[in-house]
Amino acid sequence: MSDCIFCSIIKGEIPCTKVYEDDKIFSFLDIVPVNKGHTLVIPKEHKETILDLSEDSFRGLMAAVQKIAKAVIKAVGAKGFNVHINNGEVAGQVVKHAHIHIIPRFDGDGLQLWKGGKYKGMEAEQIKKDIVNFL
Ligand code: AMP
Ligand code: ZN
Repeated sequence: MSDCIFCSIIKGEIPCTKVYEDDKIFSFLDIVPVNKGHTLVIPKEHKETILDLSEDSFRGLMAAVQKIAKAVIKAVGAKGFNVHINNGEVAGQVVKHAHIHIIPRFDGDGLQLWKGGKYKGMEAEQIKKDIVNFL
């Protein structure tokens, strides 16, 4: 049994409701769905967050997310969907194997998005400069 629950799911050591698999990608229903059809898409290689994936792997993962999301929203009759990624404990990541949530959305489903704040003075300009320096 692997230390990582998602690696164990990929290996078939832990059961899941699989919706898709190819040589690099695995996808299954979230066991605690926010809405019906809530699906996880994961790379088969064990990497903690999306920043640990190669650019190629990340492209492949996102292409799979697009393909699977199209099927999920048709299957459950959703009007839209959120694609959500928690990176790091502080961001709510519980399972330390990179994964992408596809969350189908329905009118009045009550799911709240984040509350926005405000920048003060030159704060936004300074943050922009810092970001650009790291690019
Ligand atoms: P995160 O907070 O982004 O790390 O989310 C991890 C997600 O994995 C949660 O939404 C869990 O409900 C889901 N999860 C954990 N264990 C399983 C499992 N055995 N099968 C399916 N989904 C799982
Ligand atoms: Zn893993």
